[in-house]
Amino acid sequence: MQYISLNKQSPAVGFREALFQGLAPDKGLYFPSEIPEMPAGFWDELQDKDPLEVGCTLLYPFVKDALSEAQLRSILEEVLHFELPVKQIGDQLHVLELFHGPTLAFKDVGALFMARCLGALTPDPDTRLTILVATSGDTGGAVANGFLGVEGVEVVILYPSGKVSALQEQQLTTLGQNITALEVKGSFDDCQLMVKKAFLDESITEHRLLSSANSINVGRWLPQMLYYVLAVAQFQKKYSKEAADKLVFSVPSGNYGNICAGMLAHRMGMPAGHFLAATNANDVVPRYLSGEEYAPKPSVQTYSNAMDVGDPSNFIRIEELWGYERNELLNKLSSYSYSDEETLAAMQELHEKYNYLADPHGAIGFLGARDFQKEQPGHPAIFLETAHAVKFLPVVEKALGFQPELSPALKELMARPKESTLISSYEELKAVLLA
Ligand SMILES: *Cc1c(COP(=O)(O)O)cnc(C)c1O
Repeated sequence: MQYISLNKQSPAVGFREALFQGLAPDKGLYFPSEIPEMPAGFWDELQDKDPLEVGCTLLYPFVKDALSEAQLRSILEEVLHFELPVKQIGDQLHVLELFHGPTLAFKDVGALFMARCLGALTPDPDTRLTILVATSGDTGGAVANGFLGVEGVEVVILYPSGKVSALQEQQLTTLGQNITALEVKGSFDDCQLMVKKAFLDESITEHRLLSSANSINVGRWLPQMLYYVLAVAQFQKKYSKEAADKLVFSVPSGNYGNICAGMLAHRMGMPAGHFLAATNANDVVPRYLSGEEYAPKPSVQTYSNAMDVGDPSNFIRIEELWGYERNELLNKLSSYSYSDEETLAAMQELHEKYNYLADPHGAIGFLGARDFQKEQPGHPAIFLETAHAVKFLPVVEKALGFQPELSPALKELMARPKESTLISSYEELKAVLLA
């Protein structure tokens, strides 16, 4: 499998190069040169297969020029060690819980997979690789956890001071070892700008091999297909293949990497009826799908902060999947936007009517599923719960008037001493990277 750049100005590369480079030299996103076909019977017999087996069959075509089947299997064994349960909470209404991983958000699978692939493919122990990443909250923790202790890799995480939740901050500032947290006086956009500048700064890249771990990296993007495929397996087993063919996935979306992985699996033959991208006030995609221009803009801050993205990087991959044919895309994808007030009301509705404790992102996923079912009745729905509610305690308290109890492990995490370096300029970042 080769990966082409969606800007079409750089040569195609193998998995290894796409993984290490992140972005192609022409600044395009890497995209598989072909959509692999699964073996005959794969989709029909999904429900009877072992999840690890499903993962290996699904991902092997994407990595086979760089990893053996045995290597892929041992990587997936480390990645898939927690549950991804589909739970029914109402009539035709289900939730896919993706928060049972080590940092309580769905990014764990992608971050762990990428970290293990990099670890398996680092050329020699003398090459020290630095992963530089900006986070608005969940990415930092998932990446820090995924790369913790990985030989030959250092991780530097930039996060906006005061703009991530207390739990998120603890997850990225208390690990030590090869993880460095930089607390930036500024916004997430400022963090991202500094990271981009560092990648282009030769005075740094001469000394350090830099790589990113954000959601555009194929190592983070592709394994997310497993969420959907394993959910369909559970759904088919409980209901039927016919029911799975009508299934709508409602996905809380920010950078549109997660939903795009689901749509890639569908292009590979995975049963699904429709995809719904549910988002907050950052509504460039819903506006575009309703007929307006595609108009990226600066992000606005909301209660569902992991989706505060004004210029979603992965949307172009969705366009590519459907050949830039607007009508084809509209057949498969709808998108709705919700305000903070609607998010709080959804959290209340989920708690009172369905006895379900949702985080603000999952609540938006629920709204998408509910509204799509109103518009097109007869579709069973699964909404994705992308983080555990305890990651967003102040919002939960605002919506429900109480704070859920922390588990003993989380209480212990909250009590750990925080270690971060406060920086306010690019020069300070540079000093850290050159030290
Ligand atoms: C990152 C994140 C999202 C958005 O996922 P994308 O792949 O960027 O669309 C949604 N919910 C939570 C909790 C997240 O951490």
